[in-house]
Amino acid sequence: MKQGFFSVLATGALMIWAGMSQPAPAAPPNVLIIVADDLGYADLGFQGSKEIPTPHLDKLAAESIRCTSGYVPHPFCSPTRASLLTGRYQHRFGHENNPAWLPADRNAGLPLDQITFPQVMKKAGYLTGAVGKWHLGAHPDFHPNRRGFDEYWGLLGGGHMYFPTNKGGVEYTIPLDRNGKEAPFTNYLTAQIGMEAAAFVRRHAGAVKPWLLYLAFNAPHTPLQAPEDWLAKLAAIKDERRRAYAAMVAAMDDAIGEVLQALQSSGQERNTLLFFISDNGGPNLPAPNSPAFTDNSPLRGHKGAVYEGGIRVPFLVKWPARLKGGRTYDAAVSAMDFLATAAAAAGAPLPNDRPMDGVNLLPYLAGEQTGAPHEFLFWRSGGPGGNYAARMGPWKYVRLKEKEPELYNLTADIGETKNVAADHPQVLAQMRAAVAAWDQQTIAPIFESPRPAKAKKKAENK
Ligand code: CA
Repeated sequence: MKQGFFSVLATGALMIWAGMSQPAPAAPPNVLIIVADDLGYADLGFQGSKEIPTPHLDKLAAESIRCTSGYVPHPFCSPTRASLLTGRYQHRFGHENNPAWLPADRNAGLPLDQITFPQVMKKAGYLTGAVGKWHLGAHPDFHPNRRGFDEYWGLLGGGHMYFPTNKGGVEYTIPLDRNGKEAPFTNYLTAQIGMEAAAFVRRHAGAVKPWLLYLAFNAPHTPLQAPEDWLAKLAAIKDERRRAYAAMVAAMDDAIGEVLQALQSSGQERNTLLFFISDNGGPNLPAPNSPAFTDNSPLRGHKGAVYEGGIRVPFLVKWPARLKGGRTYDAAVSAMDFLATAAAAAGAPLPNDRPMDGVNLLPYLAGEQTGAPHEFLFWRSGGPGGNYAARMGPWKYVRLKEKEPELYNLTADIGETKNVAADHPQVLAQMRAAVAAWDQQTIAPIFESPRPAKAKKKAENK
């Protein structure tokens, strides 16, 4: 009793003191992370698309801070998510590939010794939910409910068929999952994901606890399966695959619109810290008589590449209660930063027993701190000795396996068309040394990406 009385007194004194010296800190915000899958850099209205209607995301962009040098930590699916959910370079713990769908394998997934985003937020009293694509391991120990999410609904693999009637391989037809139990598949998947996320937002409005929602669409990742109404509206797009992809993006925009509407109508918009990204660049998947159906212009390369087209993505941050919107922010930032940023907003302590790589972006985005959040950002794909990239100020370093390193000035040449390595040997040497030092802090991949069936057969026949 006595202790309780004194702690009440102490809290009161603290509040009075805080009240005298500065305005009371804002209540911890809800945190909403929206991830698209394999979206082309130029395939949204606010990114310049004239072909694909995305009014909800365009409105969101107009209200947000648009990070023009926004990156993801990897040029493909699962490693980006592993980094986003740990706030660390995924290479530190060997998560550099996509895990195969192997429910008996306790190795192919986000390593169990990693502390996750929701686990950090729970320390500050958050309720945590994930809706949509997981892709961080098929073994039951990797299930979102065992990695810190109180609530989960979605597809556990790396992708899924979009209509309940579609046939396909095992991973893409596994039953939808609600908290470890099979859940009905009732609608176009993208629409159903939107409804589940909107329901989460409404369900927890006015709750004592703030919430974290990790909303990961599998759209517009293949297979190219789109709703008829959008296909009809986009009939002007002649290439069939491009039209289907565009319709999938438009349907995702509708679903995001529903979530944003739920946020607004439940009075939670002002104090929600929202992030939007794609998990990697658009893939280059041409077919006979049909070009690639995504558009990463003006960037070079595509999903899988360490050129900008693989790793630079549409990137929005919005928190009306704290950050002025309707602006751009140009220094390089990463989805790896979301955890440190959200934890700072929530007052949640970050793990202190391991190196953390993400940076709290709030003082930078608020204009309270100048300079760049990261002196360097690094990428590696294909394990040690694979393809490397680094960013330092305007400079982009690329080294593809055994080839000579390349250097680009992204301010002058966002498309990485002119290798200026020979003109700037000192910059090149500095970046090369930084990459080598970073590489020393990483380990080799602990599991391999599943190989496409064709390649596997070929290898087996050898
Ligand atoms: Ca992806």
